Amino acid sequence: LADRLENAWKKVRGQDKISESNVKDALREVRRALLEADANLQVVKDFVAEVEQKALGAEVISGVRPDQQFIEIIHNELVSVMGDANVPLAHAESAPTIVLMAGLQGTGKTTATAKLALHLRKEERSVLMVATDVYRPAAIDQLIALGKQVDIPVFDLGKDADPVEIARQGVERARAEGFDTVIIDTAGRLQIDESMMGELKRIKDTIQPHEVLLVVDAMTGQEAANLTRTFHEQIGVTGAILTKMDGDTRGGAALSVRRISGQPIKFIGVGEKVDALQPFYPDRMASRILGMGDVLTLVEKAREEIDLADAEKMQEKILSAKFDFTDFIKQTRLLKNMGSLGGVLKLIPGMGKMVNEEQLQKGEEQLKKAEAMIGSMTADERRDPDLLSNSPSRRRRIARGSGHADKEVTELISNFQKMRSMMQQMGSGQMGLPGMGGGF
Ligand code: GDP
Ligand code: MG
Repeated sequence: LADRLENAWKKVRGQDKISESNVKDALREVRRALLEADANLQVVKDFVAEVEQKALGAEVISGVRPDQQFIEIIHNELVSVMGDANVPLAHAESAPTIVLMAGLQGTGKTTATAKLALHLRKEERSVLMVATDVYRPAAIDQLIALGKQVDIPVFDLGKDADPVEIARQGVERARAEGFDTVIIDTAGRLQIDESMMGELKRIKDTIQPHEVLLVVDAMTGQEAANLTRTFHEQIGVTGAILTKMDGDTRGGAALSVRRISGQPIKFIGVGEKVDALQPFYPDRMASRILGMGDVLTLVEKAREEIDLADAEKMQEKILSAKFDFTDFIKQTRLLKNMGSLGGVLKLIPGMGKMVNEEQLQKGEEQLKKAEAMIGSMTADERRDPDLLSNSPSRRRRIARGSGHADKEVTELISNFQKMRSMMQQMGSGQMGLPGMGGGF
């Protein structure tokens, strides 16, 4: 019997190892999600190939479908590629911390300068902003206006001064006046050009910043990859700010920026206002990037299922006869997630009696009924189903509360008790149960 059960069970839940064939659809879904999220094509190819390699041959956790487990692996890998946790802004041992902003024109450098200044002040860090964009008309005025708005001082030398000199004197001023942090806003070009890079390099060499933050417009999409490569090769960045995440982009640029620079994204910009800046959280971003089509739902489902500790606890309970209605609900949901409930129930001798043939096909509906009845039980009754077999009045209350017939409640309870004693027999035979974390 154990052998037969094992084989049938494997058919229902798929194979026991992650293989190319049993994750093919999941793989396609993930690739599509990443591309639709605007991650760079090459970055996506490399990333998916690496993760696939890692995942192939991984043991499938008992009771979890291989494709769902695979998506969970992808999700975790995406989180880890993006840095696991938020990396805060550098804080130099001796003030001032020097932050240099870099990026193309229109990406949101000037706005991000003010946002960051405001963010730091909330952490009790005093900030001086420095305006070095002497090329774009009114760029200096823009920063001064933002400074007024948040009440944070701006250093500038007018639009005829040399940007390198402005940056140097700005840092001097910050040091002399005891500012905690100085942020240097710089000019950008619509395209990367040599004179812009040259100037940025000279500024960097002169002020020796603790942070060089690449400001990337999340809407840039595919281009974010090239852009990051060029800036990182020529200037060397220590982190990034991803702006305009309030748009409808999925943020695939985050994956590109991180993979290509190897540096953490530290903040995201989520609007035009000065307080629209948030720390970057890799797990949230991973969900957002994968959050297309059905992928995220699959991840969530897998999450629910991959709770091994829980499954082990469950098995212990079964063996010690403590399995109750609360566990029943949990366990049934688990089974349901893994395929057709009817198909699963049929595999277990005696359990099929819980529901008739026709109902087996409508497993979900049946489960809903049971759930409704169990929902009308008190916590004590769920823990101790014997309370119910001895009390018609309790059963009647549950029937009324859940909108079912007395008979249905009686049936549920007697079937449950049969099932429980059957499980105990199976358990004591060391046979284990599908989805209960036990080996076959
Ligand atoms: P810079 O040329 O890199 O200095 O870019 P600016 O700071 O001048 O910003 C360019 C435009 O983008 C402005 O209209 C900003 O209001 C807008 N902007 C900047 N950051 C964000 C953001 O996170 N979300 C949105 N929606 N707009 C932003
Ligand atoms: Mg600007």
